[in-house]
Amino acid sequence: MGHDASSGTGRGYRSRLAEVLGRRGFALTVESPPLLGSKPLEDVVSEVTALARWLQEDGRATAITVSDRVRTDRDHDPISVALRVAEVTGTVPLVHWAGKGRTALHLQRDLERARTGGLQSFLFLTGDALREPPREGSARYLDSVDALRMARHELPDSLLAAAVNPFKYREEALLGQYVKAAKKLRAGADLLITQIGWDPRKLVELAGWLGRRGLHPPVLATVWLLTPRLAARLLQGATLPGVYVPPDLLRCLEAEAKAPDHGRQRAILRAALQVVGAARLGLAGAHVCGAHTPRTLEELLDAVERWRRDCPDLRSWESAWDEFMRHPDRRPVRLVPEDPFYLDAPPYDALASPAEIRRFRILQALDRWVFDHGSPLARAAGALVARTDPRSAAGRALGRVEHALKGGWLGCQMCGSCRLPHTFFVCPETCPKGLANGPCGGTDGNTCEFGDRECIHARVYRLAKHTGRVLQWEATWVAPVPEEVRGTCSWVHHFRGQGSRAEVLPEPRPAPLSPQASRALR
Ligand code: SF4
Repeated sequence: MGHDASSGTGRGYRSRLAEVLGRRGFALTVESPPLLGSKPLEDVVSEVTALARWLQEDGRATAITVSDRVRTDRDHDPISVALRVAEVTGTVPLVHWAGKGRTALHLQRDLERARTGGLQSFLFLTGDALREPPREGSARYLDSVDALRMARHELPDSLLAAAVNPFKYREEALLGQYVKAAKKLRAGADLLITQIGWDPRKLVELAGWLGRRGLHPPVLATVWLLTPRLAARLLQGATLPGVYVPPDLLRCLEAEAKAPDHGRQRAILRAALQVVGAARLGLAGAHVCGAHTPRTLEELLDAVERWRRDCPDLRSWESAWDEFMRHPDRRPVRLVPEDPFYLDAPPYDALASPAEIRRFRILQALDRWVFDHGSPLARAAGALVARTDPRSAAGRALGRVEHALKGGWLGCQMCGSCRLPHTFFVCPETCPKGLANGPCGGTDGNTCEFGDRECIHARVYRLAKHTGRVLQWEATWVAPVPEEVRGTCSWVHHFRGQGSRAEVLPEPRPAPLSPQASRALR
């Protein structure tokens, strides 16, 4: 039943995660300790491999995951650590790979290392904001959709996971997440792993939405062991990008911290109950983070077993959850913000403003008249522009004109590969991560993770909705900008037939795994 590393490495490491998902079992993954760059690599490797060995001997969890730069931008490379875990345990971990501070070239190199080493399970994320952005130039973020598409092409038989954040309470932010999740599945993801959250109704909503869209990927719910110590840091203002930690839950933990064990047992029991909740809600598994020692994990896994016995079905789990999520004075803990948005609770009142619609219409018309290869103007001017070298004096002069016209109005940064027609004329360069294929998970409401603007994809959603093209948005993959064209005039590249590219992504692969992976499991 071993999952052969069917990408041709011949190393034959098992993928227990693929095995469990393939037989529709309940998968439980456990996050590795952070690969802190402040420690020597060998110390980090020993720590992670020791935990991986312990989990393997214990046998109750399915796989360890190896995280990527969760604490600092300088944490150790997850591929190197994952290779050592695979050597020691004979089983591949789920390797997290974040696109922050990386380009397609980095991914190409890492996929090659993974292929050579026999790794075959990955979670692709865009990643949160770099803590140390480059001193010169803008930071690059490789969109998870681009990464998934590339990985599916390079390692066709591997198990690819993608993230989704259903814990969004504004229409634009939530639908942006769902559209992007579908896009990730179309780009090659086999399974989805949620962001951290405590609202079971959102997990039900996600499963329902996927079903209605005809998508049936396995979904793992992420469960964070939120201890009173961590809650105290959050109460003092620390934040986790994209994670909605209900303030009332923090107050509850503050009260629980007064217990003789400082609230440790309650925190473990709560996380264990959430793991069992994922099973009772019909999800394919859970991903536990924040528990990094055998002692804590043993307590948590024991608690999972007890809750499993005590809550044999959804109804008993719901009563246990309802009972558990109360303040010491018995008030229920409020898990959602004011006026939360749910798909089953209209109104759907996110509407494009008249100004947004006007701008969209003007740009659409301009695009047709000036850039559509069939238009008379494009035929006349295009032939001339196409003969211009983008780096010549004439090409640079055209670039200055482009910037003068589009810079102030549209936020054009001279990326050289204008993607406006594929993004509802909202410039992806106005997203601090430069994302063209949908939002990252970092929004707070509709506000960008960077805190200084509305997420640009909220506007894209409103325009897609206004024009009846949400499904088209979901199906469209916008190719990343080739680094070599940055700073040059996009018009020249367009009329030379080397402009931006967008493709219709295929329908998602059959759930839960690729035919090759399924064959390997038989
Ligand atoms: S604009 Fe949206 S997608 Fe871009 S970084 Fe901000 S939150 Fe993320």
